[in-house]
Amino acid sequence: MAEINHAQLCWDAQGQPLSSQFDDVYFSSASGLAETEYVFLQHNQLPSRMAALKTGQTFVIGETGFGTGLNFLSAWQCFNQHAPDHTRLHFISVEKFPLKRSDLSQALALWPQLGTLREQLLKQYLAVHSGFQHFKFDLGRVTLTLLIGDVHDMLQQLDAQIDAWFLDGFAPAKNPDMWNEQVFAQLARLATTGTTLATFTSAGFVRRGLIAAGFNMRRVQGFGHKREMLAGLYSAEGYQDTKHCQPWFARPASTPPALAQRHAIVIGAGLAGCSTAASLASRGWRVTLIEQHTRIAQEASGNAQGILYLKLSAHHTALSRFILSGFGYTRRLLETLDNPLQNLKQDEWSICGTLQLAFNDKEQHRLTTLAEHFPDDLLYAVTAEQASMQAGVPLQHGGLFYPQAGWVHPPALCQALSQNPLIEFKSAQRATTLLQMNQQWQVHSEHGLIAEAPVVVLCNAANVTQFQQTQHLPLNPVRGQTTQLPSTAASQSIQTVICANGYISPARQGHHTIGASFNFALNSQTASLAEHRSNLELLHAIAPSLTQICQTDTLDLSQLKGHAAFRSTSIDYLPLVGPVAQYNQFMQTYAELRKDARLPQQQPCPWHNGLYVNTAHGSRGLISAPLAAELLSAWICAEPLPLPVDIAQQCHPNRFALRTLMRNKPQ
Ligand code: SAM
Repeated sequence: MAEINHAQLCWDAQGQPLSSQFDDVYFSSASGLAETEYVFLQHNQLPSRMAALKTGQTFVIGETGFGTGLNFLSAWQCFNQHAPDHTRLHFISVEKFPLKRSDLSQALALWPQLGTLREQLLKQYLAVHSGFQHFKFDLGRVTLTLLIGDVHDMLQQLDAQIDAWFLDGFAPAKNPDMWNEQVFAQLARLATTGTTLATFTSAGFVRRGLIAAGFNMRRVQGFGHKREMLAGLYSAEGYQDTKHCQPWFARPASTPPALAQRHAIVIGAGLAGCSTAASLASRGWRVTLIEQHTRIAQEASGNAQGILYLKLSAHHTALSRFILSGFGYTRRLLETLDNPLQNLKQDEWSICGTLQLAFNDKEQHRLTTLAEHFPDDLLYAVTAEQASMQAGVPLQHGGLFYPQAGWVHPPALCQALSQNPLIEFKSAQRATTLLQMNQQWQVHSEHGLIAEAPVVVLCNAANVTQFQQTQHLPLNPVRGQTTQLPSTAASQSIQTVICANGYISPARQGHHTIGASFNFALNSQTASLAEHRSNLELLHAIAPSLTQICQTDTLDLSQLKGHAAFRSTSIDYLPLVGPVAQYNQFMQTYAELRKDARLPQQQPCPWHNGLYVNTAHGSRGLISAPLAAELLSAWICAEPLPLPVDIAQQCHPNRFALRTLMRNKPQ
């Protein structure tokens, strides 16, 4: 996965976009909107199929070539016009050369008929980097997942069942890469009986290739001056890709429960829990959110300012790709929450940019490599002078600047996420035991039953292991402390987040947040003087000028306030997101893997039906928890996964038990 290239456009006399890379038009010059309606909406019978959706159902459209988003917005408009209440649309589209935001805006200005949908897309069209980029509109009624990369790589990574395909790469003669057997096989893999397909082209090899892949194809009257186009229906039995269907990673539920039965208990009201509650509520689930404290976000999500910081790898590891997708999703989520309904206030977040300083040679090398591997609109190299200009204070080191990053007040984000009439907050309730009775999970405290529901999601960090069903999960609590440093007249000049080994944020309500310590040994949750001191040392190491302008010499350290809490991490640093299996039965069922790790296994996984986890977000919950919540909801609701299947599997709670077996380790 290399740096993404934006679409290179030129504009014709009518103001229509043309691709310089492919020497082709994005849509018909006669009328792009009418062509979309005719080719893609009508020939997939979308108005009638959307009107026939049942309460709680999601209609899934797949597209090759997102381009200007015209097809997406038209499908969304069609959905708004025809679909009943309590149904959802999920649009998934592959795009190798995403348009720059300014180009998208110019192209979509051609279609005032699309009204506010256009503005909604533009508002969120940012941080669109490589990999899966997930968007939610209309309070979750419409979801868009852009697969940014080449169609061959991206479709392979998709785990979804598509109801209607839009094939809209440029003309086959101009872009043969988009139209070949491998792509057709992927379209079929992701189809099921009844999946339809439409495309503007009538090329013979496309028709034959789609027939060979399992689609019944018809030539029909084309749009405008075009004589013919193709429409199809998948008829063969859904091709099962065994690679995606190992029993331990298979989906526990094939159909989501009826709307009336959608009730989940979420344990833990930090970022993971509030995000999970919000994701489920946006799918019509009633959620009981249980928290041991009297208020939400009291533990690791209780810092005054959480940093939007991306620890990326030039090797594009699963974690790094997760972070890139998670950052994009959080960044867009913040835009949508910043409205009077959701009420994330101005002083509760800031996209002021984040500086990552190269404080030694090794770090310099790492950051230089990152700058070579990622696009400038995500991060770019800065000299010490440039860094000082950005930060508003003198700095001795250059490094990287992340223009779309900044800070968020995590409790405000948790509050905004959990403000949904479907979410009931039960505070001051410490869940200790889970019992399953008649398909219902009962959550008990020492004092008795707190709540019961068919689904439980554990989002209580490393305390997930306190339950008998999940005690095998390898989670570690790591204590961290931040310090609230009073701002001074001079320190108001700090304009960006500045990170080295530690960090400082611009002032919020008279204080900078500095931090953060990592302490595996200490077991207390009270802020300690020693760790305030170590945070001040980290500040000095970022730049001595910072200690000067913050006048740290004159501080009475005993008066410093801060926040200490435990972050939970896993041994491979990836979060744990997904369904939970019965550990002992799992080890018995797949014991043969100890002898031969490659031996195919047919036995279904012994799930704890209805039990899920979303945890181990370490100190990057702001970036990973909201997208993880969407991933978890996709597992629960049998929806397309919003992340590549390999990442979803590397976050799967079963991965540890599987490794124990495959490496023949003691249990
Ligand atoms: N559906 C679009 C719309 O509503 O504006 C128009 C799509 S345009 C005709 C074709 C798109 O396919 C372009 O945006 C192009 O960048 C993309 N594309 C071309 N080759 C690709 C490939 N190999 N993988 C992924 N996307 C590709």
